[in-house]
Amino acid sequence: MNKFIQTSLLLTLTAYCSAEVLKYPTSYSSDLYKEVILNGNYDSSIDHPNKFLDFKYGERVATPEQIEDAINVYKQQSNKIKVINYGTTHEGRPLHALIISSPDNIAQLDTIKQNLSALSDARKTSDREAKKIIDSLPAVAWMAYSIHGNETSGADAALGLIYHLIASNDSETTNLLDNMIIIVDPVMNPDGRARFAKSLEQYRGTAPNYDDQSLIHTGDWPYGRTNHYYFDLNRDWVYLTQPETQGRVSLINEWKPQILVDAHEMGAQDTFMTGPAREPINKNMNRDLVKWGNVFAQDQGSEFDRRNWRFYTGEWHEDLYPGYSFYVNFRGTLGILYEQSRMAEDGVRRPEGTIQSYKESVHHQFISSLTNLNTLLANSKAMYNDYWVARKLNVSKESEWANQTFVILPTKNLSRINTLADKLKSQNIEIYTNKQNINVKNVLKQTGDIVEEFNIPAGSMIIPNRQPEAPLISAILEFDAEIDEDVLKKEREATLRDGSSIMYDTTAFNFTMMYGLEAVTVPEYVKGNLSSWEPSSVEIDVDEKAIMWIVDGTDDLSVTFAARLMEQDVQVRIVDKEISLSGKNLSRGSPVVIAMDNPKNSNLVQLIKNTAKDLNISVSSLYTGFGPEELPDWGGRHFRLLNKPQIAILSHEGFSSYDVGVSWWSLDHHLGIRHSQLNTSMIGYADLRRYNTLIMPSGYRSLNQSEISVLKDWVKQGGTLIANNDSTRMLVSDNSITSIKDVSNSFENSHDYNIKLQREFLSKNISIDLDYVNNNKITSDISYPWEETENRIDSDTLKKRDKWQSLFMPSGAFVAGRIDDKHWLTFGTIDTLPLLYSNFPVLMAGSGSKAVIRVGELVNDTSQDIYKTINWSDIPSGNDLNIRMSGLVWPEASARIANSAYLTQERYGKGQIILFSGEPNFRGSSLGTNRLWLNSVIYGSGLGTSPRITP
Ligand SMILES: [Zn+2]
Repeated sequence: MNKFIQTSLLLTLTAYCSAEVLKYPTSYSSDLYKEVILNGNYDSSIDHPNKFLDFKYGERVATPEQIEDAINVYKQQSNKIKVINYGTTHEGRPLHALIISSPDNIAQLDTIKQNLSALSDARKTSDREAKKIIDSLPAVAWMAYSIHGNETSGADAALGLIYHLIASNDSETTNLLDNMIIIVDPVMNPDGRARFAKSLEQYRGTAPNYDDQSLIHTGDWPYGRTNHYYFDLNRDWVYLTQPETQGRVSLINEWKPQILVDAHEMGAQDTFMTGPAREPINKNMNRDLVKWGNVFAQDQGSEFDRRNWRFYTGEWHEDLYPGYSFYVNFRGTLGILYEQSRMAEDGVRRPEGTIQSYKESVHHQFISSLTNLNTLLANSKAMYNDYWVARKLNVSKESEWANQTFVILPTKNLSRINTLADKLKSQNIEIYTNKQNINVKNVLKQTGDIVEEFNIPAGSMIIPNRQPEAPLISAILEFDAEIDEDVLKKEREATLRDGSSIMYDTTAFNFTMMYGLEAVTVPEYVKGNLSSWEPSSVEIDVDEKAIMWIVDGTDDLSVTFAARLMEQDVQVRIVDKEISLSGKNLSRGSPVVIAMDNPKNSNLVQLIKNTAKDLNISVSSLYTGFGPEELPDWGGRHFRLLNKPQIAILSHEGFSSYDVGVSWWSLDHHLGIRHSQLNTSMIGYADLRRYNTLIMPSGYRSLNQSEISVLKDWVKQGGTLIANNDSTRMLVSDNSITSIKDVSNSFENSHDYNIKLQREFLSKNISIDLDYVNNNKITSDISYPWEETENRIDSDTLKKRDKWQSLFMPSGAFVAGRIDDKHWLTFGTIDTLPLLYSNFPVLMAGSGSKAVIRVGELVNDTSQDIYKTINWSDIPSGNDLNIRMSGLVWPEASARIANSAYLTQERYGKGQIILFSGEPNFRGSSLGTNRLWLNSVIYGSGLGTSPRITP
């Protein structure tokens, strides 16, 4: 008896037994929709999907394992299918793409792929060759389903589609397969789907449930949308942080499909949406492709009309952000989005009283897929011709990108720039470096300033944009995505009318700002003496005769190095100033292991060596602790002892699953050290003494007074509490655990906040007039910063203005962060750090707290000869403030957040509180601010609290 017969027999028995206990329901969901989805003339030697399911195909959600079973059988039963395993999820599930075509085409896959590759690079292919290739090429479609795990109908449609394509004897299907390579990516997020399928089992009763508010339809925290670490995989297509996307993108880029269908679901009470996006559309996208989008949508719409199915196109679907599946549009593939109204199984009742059934949802996705494939069949040659024209343009000097070169300046943060290189290479982007300086003109800086004469230093990463993937390169590296005046008008109208937005995602996303790497854009094609960019070599010099061993603190991996050694009970120090020892110059924040600190560790040298090897990071041996002149020596106060972090993340219902997930992932991925995730409802009775570092991801869960007092006691005894965004907002508004205020509650004390700010400004720009200082007479000629300005604004006006300005807060834009370059939290960061900023709490740090990062880059500007007053703060004469770096930041918002704190640190008892106004680990991609967070988690306990001494 095979496994499937066994399963179905078992299920029949189970059903029979339950019927005795449970009452029969008055209706069955199978009665809701009588159409047959799979109604072709099928080859009986191929198993019907029903065989792999414990229900009838299309009526319920197939689990990833059931779909997996079918794939494994189909690849044995059919010669029209080739299965490619392109990755494994975090939970160990395989990721499959199925190449489906005629057996003849399947035998030719390598040749087809070579031809596709030749067609994509016009530097290597002539027009004549291209024509020949186009004549011979089958169409190529990539059909991808259910990237959001709880948007289930897509993957069920995929299961039917696979069967239909390999089993149907109808001429329409065999003709399709003769002329097309169809790559089906049936379950893009198996971990999320498995999580949701499990909740369906748990919440299913005897009667069908049509109420879209019930748990069976909604699921519960953290929901099935995301992958194992709660990442939204449909925002990861260019940042490539997750194994699902990494494997998928590399295979898609290998195949260069003509269309990529990405099948989703949306609100339960909606209908079906497809078709081209509305504005804002990223300007780097080829408009010919948008034209083809209309052709596909029209055919699909006609098919829906014919079947009496309601649908729409456009509406909320925009395409500014390049990290959706639509990244393919920049590479010449037409992305097609499906959005089916969402239900888990059974059906959902609608206001007019009808019930939309799950099976009908599956049917919509199935028919849409077949319709799109037929449209592609009819237009494939014409689309290839357009593609070829576009690919030729990309490498020609006529293209809009031809005179554009992106340059990332040299950095000691090797792991970060290597990560950038990996991501760019995954998209077939060609990157170079220079051995000698190159002089260029009119260079654009990240802050928007133009430098007339600029020297590109040797060792920069250089990306001239006259290459095949030019549009994508521009989309992900240009500092600012162009947004039309008309779009801005509509956005402002929406904001003013009801506080809504027409922007569906962040309005800024470029890689170098996300990564906190300094870069410039050169308005010319930089060529000449360039060589291919390669990672610098790593040198692990761990000599047992040395007195200490050190890694450079600029590299993000230095934090990992310290964390992993501490986890193995090695005592680690950190040098909080730049140093020069044994002829080595090392950055501020370099972790060092001193032999004397670890007298009992006989394995020390080996541990350091192994850790460095695991991480692939350079280590130097030092033989003297003497730093020349004023530079630190090893027994002084700059060699600060760290404390092993014992970490817990507060988690569960009430927290943003994204921010919980990315915090969890950051600890696993960047550090690989032990930590616990705590259900926050346990705070009142858990033994918090086990941890010295508590992480509060962003969340809307308000702690009650007794929970707050537990936290307070814990911090007082030496704990480090780190909070993000909405959790920061909650702690600030609680008003008892932190002295930090939200700007809207701070206007009574504006003067004090301004004085603190002026002290910071003045301390950075000191000039001494000896005669004035050494004069023995008393003088009335003393300058007071607050008396320099005449436009002081009273607190009532400030309050009214703040309320108005708060309407215009950004939704994902880069603003300039000004770092305190002496604070340990800023180890490894650049001076002007781009901060991805949204509607975050606007933080005010008064006395007793430190504003480690403030919003706004202070720039010299001699034309500004007066003190400028912006809300509560003054900008000294001779200076100006840069706020916006990229994306939409209304001037009202700039004024509101100017000089406010993005990151604060304050002592509380023997412990400390570290507040991020934003979400520093956003999407696992904001490496610039992620470094601040890693510093806080790993160094916080040692550097910001009173040391604990065991008696
Ligand atoms: Zn979705």
